[in-house]
Amino acid sequence: MDSTTISFTLALIGTALALLLVLFALYRREAGLAVYAVGFLAAVAGLSVFVVQGRLSRFLGLILASTLILFFQLCLALGLRINVKLVPAWPRRFSAYLATWLATITIATLAIDSFILRSVLFSGFMIIATLEFLVAFSSIKPALSRIVCNSVWIVALTFSLLHVFRIAVLLINASVLARLMDNRFVNAYTFAALFAVLWAGLILLIDVADLFEQSGRKSKILEELATSDQLTGLNNRRSLDAKLAAEMERSNRYHEALSIIMFDIDHFKHVNDTWGHPVGDDVLKQMARIAASLVRGPDDLFRWGGEEFLIVAPHTDLQGAVVLAEKLRAAIEKDTFPSVGTLTASFGVAELRPAEDSEDWFKRVDQALYRAKNNGRNRVVGFGAMDALPVASVRIEWRSEWSSGNRVIDDEHRVLLELSNSLLDLSFSENNGADWMPGMEALLDHVVAHFADEEKILSELRYPGVVSHSHLHRDLVQKSLELAARVNAGDCSAAQLFDFLVNQVVVGHMIKADSVFFEYTKGR
Ligand code: GH3
Ligand code: MG
Ligand code: MG
Repeated sequence: MDSTTISFTLALIGTALALLLVLFALYRREAGLAVYAVGFLAAVAGLSVFVVQGRLSRFLGLILASTLILFFQLCLALGLRINVKLVPAWPRRFSAYLATWLATITIATLAIDSFILRSVLFSGFMIIATLEFLVAFSSIKPALSRIVCNSVWIVALTFSLLHVFRIAVLLINASVLARLMDNRFVNAYTFAALFAVLWAGLILLIDVADLFEQSGRKSKILEELATSDQLTGLNNRRSLDAKLAAEMERSNRYHEALSIIMFDIDHFKHVNDTWGHPVGDDVLKQMARIAASLVRGPDDLFRWGGEEFLIVAPHTDLQGAVVLAEKLRAAIEKDTFPSVGTLTASFGVAELRPAEDSEDWFKRVDQALYRAKNNGRNRVVGFGAMDALPVASVRIEWRSEWSSGNRVIDDEHRVLLELSNSLLDLSFSENNGADWMPGMEALLDHVVAHFADEEKILSELRYPGVVSHSHLHRDLVQKSLELAARVNAGDCSAAQLFDFLVNQVVVGHMIKADSVFFEYTKGR
C-alpha cells in the first residue's frame, strides 16, 4: 500500500469517525460530545484543506488548514471540560491561545514567511492544547480504569513528544523536515490524520468508560436504595431474606448457633402524638445509631418495621444474644432523646432450633417480644432453643369452648389465664425462681377467691355437683399451698409449683373439671 492510499484511507476513517461523533452527540444530546463532533469536523476540514492547499492561495491554505487542526485540538480539551463539568468550560486563556496563534501565524506567513517559525508555532500550540486536554482529564482520572488512563497518557505524551521532536529537528536542521514535508507532504498528512483517528478513539474510550463508571455508580446507589432504609440508613427488611437464608443454611450445616433479637420502642405512638412525627423520626434515627454502635462484627442490624428493629447474630446462642440485647436495652434506657427525654425498648430473643423454618423462628421471637411488652416493657425475654420448663411454652389463649356462659365465672377465668401468662412471660426471661414467687402467690390468691365465687354461683344455680366440685377446689388449693410451702423451704423448685398452678389448676381444672357444669351454667 502506498502512502497516498494510506492517507486517503485515514481521511475516510477520520471522516467516518467525525460523522459517528456527530450522530453520537445528537443521540446523547450532550454539549461536550457536540463540541467533540464540531472539533472532528474542523479536523477533517483542516486536513482536506491541507491536501488541496496547492490549489488554494498558499497563505490562506496554510493558515486555514493549521488553524482548523489546532481548533480541533482545543475542542478536545473544551469537550472534556464540558463533560467533566469544569468551570469555566472555556477559560479566558483559551481565547488568548487562539488570539496569539492567529496573530503569530499571520505574521509568520504574511510578514516573515518562515517555514520554521510556522512549524514551531503550530507544534507549540498543539502541545499547549494537548496539555489542556490532560489538565481536564486529570479531574476524572481517578474514577476511570487504569487501562483507560494509561491509554490517554500514552497517546497524549507520544503526540506531544513527536511535536517536541519536530520543533527540535526544525531548530537544528530545518532542511531535513522541510524535505520530508515538501517532497512527500503526504507523510505529514498521514501523521496528522493518524493522530486525529487516535484522538477520536481515545475520547470515545474515555466517554464510554465514564458512562460505565457512572452507570456502575448509579446501580450501586439504586442497590443501596433498595436494600437500605431511607430514614435510618439501616438495612431494610428486603435485604434480610438473603442474609437470613445464608445464615440459616450455615447454622444448619455446621451446627452453629444462630439467634435473632427483635426490639420495639416502648410507647412510641405517644412520642409521635406528643411531639410530632418529625421528632418521632429523630428518635428512630437515634435509636438506629445506638443499636449500630453496639452491633458489630458478623451481627447485622435491620429496620424491621415502623419502630421495630431486628438483629441477626450468627455464632450466638440464646444466652449470648440475651446479653447483647440486655446491653442494648441498658444503652437505650440510659440515653437522652432531644425533646422526648428518656425512652425504653422491649426485646424478644430466639435462637434457631435445629431444622426449624424461619416462619416458626420468627413466631417465637415475636412471642418473646410480646411477652416482654406484656411483662412491663423495658425488658429482654429470651425464647430458648430447648425451653427447660415442662409447661406449655407458648402463651395460653382464651378459647371459646372454655366459656361457661356465666359472666362472673368467665371473667375470673380470664383473669386467671392472664396471670398465668404473666408467669409464663417470667419463665422466659432470665429470672430465677425467687422472682416468680410474688406472681405465683398472687395467682394462688386469685384462685382461692375465684373458687369461692364459683362455688357460690353454682350453689345459687342449684348445680347438683356443687359439693364434689368444692372438694376438687379444696384439694387443688391444699396441694398448691403445700407446694408453695415446700418451695419456700427450698424443698422443691419454683418451676414445679409453676407447672402445677398453670397446668393443673388453671388449664387442667378449667378445661377438664369445670366443663362438667358448663352445660348447666349455659342452660340458665
Ligand atoms: P408499644 O410500647 O406497645 O410498642 O407501644 P407503641 O406505641 O410503641 O406501639 P404501636 O405499634 O402502637 O405504635 C407504633 C407507632 O409507630 C405507630 C406509628 O405511627 C409509628 N411509626 C411507624 N413508623 C414510623 C416512622 O417512620 N416515623 C414515625 N415518626 N413514626 C412511625
Ligand atoms: Mg409496635
Ligand atoms: Mg412500640
